[in-house]
Amino acid sequence: MLTNDMLSQWDRDTFFHPSTHLAQHARGETPSRVIAGGKGCHIQDRDGNRMLDAFAGLYCVNVGYGRPEIAEAIAEQARELAYYHAYVGHGTEASITLAKMVLDRAPSHMSKVYFGLSGSDANETNVKLVWYYNNILGRPEKKKIISRWRGYHGSGLMTGSLTGLELFHKKFDLPLSQVIHTEAPYYYRRPDTAMSEAQFVAHCAAELEALIDREGADTIAAFIGEPVLGTGGIVPPPAGYWEAIQAVLEKHDILLIADEVVTGFGRLGSMFGSDHYGLKPDLITIAKGLTSAYAPLSGSIVSEKMWKVLEQGTDENGPIGHGWTYSAHPIGAAAGVANLKLIDDLGLIDNAATVGAHLRAGLVAALGEHAHVGDIRGEGMLAALEFVEDREGRAFFDPARKAGPQIAAALASKGVIARAMPQGDILGFAPPFCLTRAEAEEIAEKTAAAVREVLG
Ligand code: PLP
Repeated sequence: MLTNDMLSQWDRDTFFHPSTHLAQHARGETPSRVIAGGKGCHIQDRDGNRMLDAFAGLYCVNVGYGRPEIAEAIAEQARELAYYHAYVGHGTEASITLAKMVLDRAPSHMSKVYFGLSGSDANETNVKLVWYYNNILGRPEKKKIISRWRGYHGSGLMTGSLTGLELFHKKFDLPLSQVIHTEAPYYYRRPDTAMSEAQFVAHCAAELEALIDREGADTIAAFIGEPVLGTGGIVPPPAGYWEAIQAVLEKHDILLIADEVVTGFGRLGSMFGSDHYGLKPDLITIAKGLTSAYAPLSGSIVSEKMWKVLEQGTDENGPIGHGWTYSAHPIGAAAGVANLKLIDDLGLIDNAATVGAHLRAGLVAALGEHAHVGDIRGEGMLAALEFVEDREGRAFFDPARKAGPQIAAALASKGVIARAMPQGDILGFAPPFCLTRAEAEEIAEKTAAAVREVLG
């Protein structure tokens, strides 16, 4: 039997962890936690500690942990056919069924779905498809992609460039030159606190127009955005934002990529964020909630408008030169089919809407008047608290104080996992959709206790 001490030693000696302070971890200055099991909204580590996971892993275990229906679908697929590729027209019952299920749920103007493995590779696919599209249309100069500061779209070379967070650029020579960033729709951090929501929306649209003018519309291919900013701070857009942005994009013939890696399949209390906010994207990125992370699987949903051009492209140039060995992996596809069925059967999207609202109401009741809580926000089963030094003057804490991480640590010591978001003192919540009202109340109560412990 492996002891915890032995695993911990191997971990420090051999395991290169993502998004981790490598030196501190190798020196043993940060905890290494070995997760052993999970059921519903709880996980358990190897020391026997049980925690309420109010971030559903990385906002992905949407149906909750330990679902036998998905585990069995995976096992059955592995026994029958663990792998076959999807190149040159091959498929499996699981991958074809999942494609049909995804399209049945997607906005009606979408046409086909390409399957990848991660949100990052799906966005990489999207950028390639956008470039291919403009080459087929004879517009080789129209290639730049506009993203937003604080957007999160992955951490590859292109997708890390699309991501608008400092940590993901610094010392990696990113962003690449084809990517440009514009204002985030972050009303709480608006440049002038006197701005109304409507004025701020007009400001975001004007900033976008100005960027397009500077660069030249004939050089800009697409705009990418999450319906609700996720890793950048869990920030729902101000009313009218997407309408204003889409009007600018339409005027300049710029494609829209809706990155629904977090929002797809129910997190906002609707099937897609595009439905929720009236987006008409040309491409939709999906991942996390597609399988609830029971197996790695992502996708790029392509609109009919783009699909027609892709077909034209292959008539002119031969088969599309794009694909991964593991595209539409049967085990991931089987997990996806079982997951989407479970979401329907258990009515989990409705639960995400109602219990998510209950969670936010609980946070407002517990912390709405706290002198260092500047903003409480969210949508569906997403919530965030933003901590400030001075609420009236909206003065932020010095990042060196690490208020957000300290509160997340205090909350973890009370048995609840929330996420200190990477830029700003923001505590994020994205529990599984099966969260109960009692669990939502426990999160709010323990969060309030953790905030008081750290900030008084
Ligand atoms: N897009 C969004 C909106 C995300 O939140 C993420 C991951 O958190 C990604 C893309 C990247 O997905 P992955 O980590 O699976 O590559």
